[in-house]
Amino acid sequence: MVADYIIVGQGLCGTFLSWNLIQQGCTVLVIDEPQTSSSSKVASGVINPITGRRMVKTWMIDELLPFAWAQYQQLGNELGVSLVKKCSVVQFHTTPQMRDAFTERLAEDETYLQVEDNSTWEPYFRFNYGAAAITPCLHIEVNAMLSAWRNVLKSKGALLEEHFDLDQLLYNETGVQYKNISASKIIFCNGTDAYDMPFFNKLPFARNKGEALIVDIPGLPATDIYKHGFTIVPWSDGLFWVGSTYEWDFTSLEPTPLFRKKVEEHLGYWLKLPFSVVAHLSAERPATLERRPFVGIHPLHPAIGILNGTGTKGCSLAPYFAQEFSRFLVDGQPITPQADVARFQKVLSR
Ligand SMILES: Cc1cc2nc3c(=O)[nH]c(=O)nc-3n(C[C@H](O)[C@H](O)[C@H](O)COP(=O)(O)OP(=O)(O)OC[C@H]3O[C@@H](n4cnc5c(N)ncnc54)[C@H](O)[C@@H]3O)c2cc1C
Repeated sequence: MVADYIIVGQGLCGTFLSWNLIQQGCTVLVIDEPQTSSSSKVASGVINPITGRRMVKTWMIDELLPFAWAQYQQLGNELGVSLVKKCSVVQFHTTPQMRDAFTERLAEDETYLQVEDNSTWEPYFRFNYGAAAITPCLHIEVNAMLSAWRNVLKSKGALLEEHFDLDQLLYNETGVQYKNISASKIIFCNGTDAYDMPFFNKLPFARNKGEALIVDIPGLPATDIYKHGFTIVPWSDGLFWVGSTYEWDFTSLEPTPLFRKKVEEHLGYWLKLPFSVVAHLSAERPATLERRPFVGIHPLHPAIGILNGTGTKGCSLAPYFAQEFSRFLVDGQPITPQADVARFQKVLSR
């Protein structure tokens, strides 16, 4: 079998890269081992333009948000599935200081911010210091997208559902061979698996674990996202995703009883509605020390590339940088320097 590109991984990165390359007339073969707890499958699917205590705009968001909106709509139309909705993150201030910081921030720049009417939310939540909204945010149906695109790849004979075995890879300057498949390049979109693999394991990845509960909360409107320490996000089947943690130091990737207890206690105080826990998820995010993705070709191996390191922001970074990378591969267009792995040329050449 011959393909233009072999792509390892079909999370957010592999999905958008394969979709873009096919749109540009290329052939792809995606190798993905089915896993229930990959980062993309556990993600809540939120694109939030303002984050942190200081409520700052996230990197490149004025460009990334409208771009993501258009891309998810286009892919959703092709797949016949609704993938993206505009919504607000309703943020309940947890302290008077937080409320004051919001008021100051609003006076400086109103973009993406508005004050909420407390009475809208009083039937559902207990809160003492008022509420604000970050709007518009996007909410992505990540799992629906992954499975619908997987079906398209299957129907094209472009998916190999197996563990990628590095020992079977042969490569030189002009191409690669994996088992009986020849391609001009192989692109690794294998998320946290890249940490332990040659080629890109010298990149400054940062291990970061996140957990979430899937919770039934009858009566809570599934129109928006709610934040008060933890975040509640609409999930599939009328359920809600509640999370998350950002753990930099951990010994196991398994869900922990401590997280479940903390979230249950928190919801018990915050929600005025009854709730029940249906599932407990955890996964490792492919995060990076400098919080910028890794996109491009290995400086020593022209047939080997990477799209990875999207950290906490795969929903916005993957569509944008997959398109940039595919245009680089097909037409030689440039990659944003802060994302291009060429910035690690020295490290990768050792
Ligand atoms: C709890 C949690 C919540 C999150 N919430 C959000 C959010 O709301 N918004 C947001 O933007 N981001 C969020 N993220 C981050 C987001 O999930 C990631 O940035 C993104 O999913 C990474 O996508 P990826 O394609 O690089 O990696 P992955 O999703 O990990 O995909 C890698 C794929 O490669 C496959 N693979 C790996 N190794 C092999 C191999 N050897 N052989 C075959 N297949 C292989 C895996 O099976 C997997 O399918 C969250 C992450 C977590 C953990």
